Amino acid sequence: DAHLSDNFKKLMQWSDQYRKLKIYTNADNQKDAVIALNFGAEGIGLCRTEHMFFDSSRINSVREMIVANTSKKRKKALDKLFPYQKDDFKELFKVMEAKDLTIRLLDPPLHEFLPQEESEIKSLADELSISIQELKTITEELAEVNPMLGHRGCRLGISYPEIYKMQVKAIISAALEVKAEKGYDVKADIMIPLIGTEKELAILREQTLELAEELIAKSDAELNYSIGTMIEIPRAALLADEIAKHADFFSFGTNDLTQMTYGFSRDDSGRFINHYLEQEIFKKDPFTVLDQSGVGKLLKMGVELGRKTKEDLKIGICGEHGGEPASIDFCHKIALDYVSCSPYRVPIARLAAAQSAIKND
Ligand code: PEP
Ligand code: MG
Repeated sequence: DAHLSDNFKKLMQWSDQYRKLKIYTNADNQKDAVIALNFGAEGIGLCRTEHMFFDSSRINSVREMIVANTSKKRKKALDKLFPYQKDDFKELFKVMEAKDLTIRLLDPPLHEFLPQEESEIKSLADELSISIQELKTITEELAEVNPMLGHRGCRLGISYPEIYKMQVKAIISAALEVKAEKGYDVKADIMIPLIGTEKELAILREQTLELAEELIAKSDAELNYSIGTMIEIPRAALLADEIAKHADFFSFGTNDLTQMTYGFSRDDSGRFINHYLEQEIFKKDPFTVLDQSGVGKLLKMGVELGRKTKEDLKIGICGEHGGEPASIDFCHKIALDYVSCSPYRVPIARLAAAQSAIKND
């Protein structure tokens, strides 16, 4: 805070007097969270948990969990990951104190976790007590042609329920411990990614709720938590009234929503799509500036339908667009509650949100 100039602080204070949108940040570690808090972030709108799994101390257990051929072996790998996860979340709850901390359950492109090297394959096979050939067969079955349209997000939570259960247990235990240790009234928002149907969310909400209530009852304390979802598949926006029945909040994942609405790959920078988007027919890159008449129309629909079911449904955005001024202006106009952006974009978002309120209201 000390290195932010007085003029900057004054400008930010003026912005805060006018803006209606809350400004959250995307952060998955304590360092980024602190940077964002110093810039004035009011909560975390997206903690991507997959990054936590790549740490060298855990990646072997993560691989083991993914390729395990029985639920028992998967649980054994998850038991090894649990203490790490709980510590990750405790660190975050400690810096966020009573502010919203939105933790998204695992959403990896699965192929990134598959073993590649022969040495990795051999030690994994040993750990799981299966032959190298068996392991190779499992790995081949898990490899997909289109991983971003395949076994990721809530689909992984449905196919391997143990993974989300471990994460929910880690989130709720961490929240309860920090609340007891520090006395903060911590706020845990559990977010389920890549929902496309009402049923997926209904199943995962029920599973989350059951586990959370059991842990809270055992602790004899109270805990402020909620269960929401990302709206990032076009179908979820189209059926947001149904989805809202099972959600305490929505967060638009406009990275995936743009990819799936246009049918443009978000992961091929430097290749065809990237050059194609630089052409004159696309005045602005839709992955950077929200396409208000296309993807934006889905957002507007999602807000209207969601709030038809729940009048005061909390709704935000956590895709890249949440830190881009023209997109923030649109978010203000469609009455989102918050935008969530990367830490260094927080000041821009505060300013843009104020400009929108002054211009439009
Ligand atoms: C999104 O899809 O917009 C999003 C925020 O999630 P991720 O970028 O992690 O897919
Ligand atoms: Mg996404």
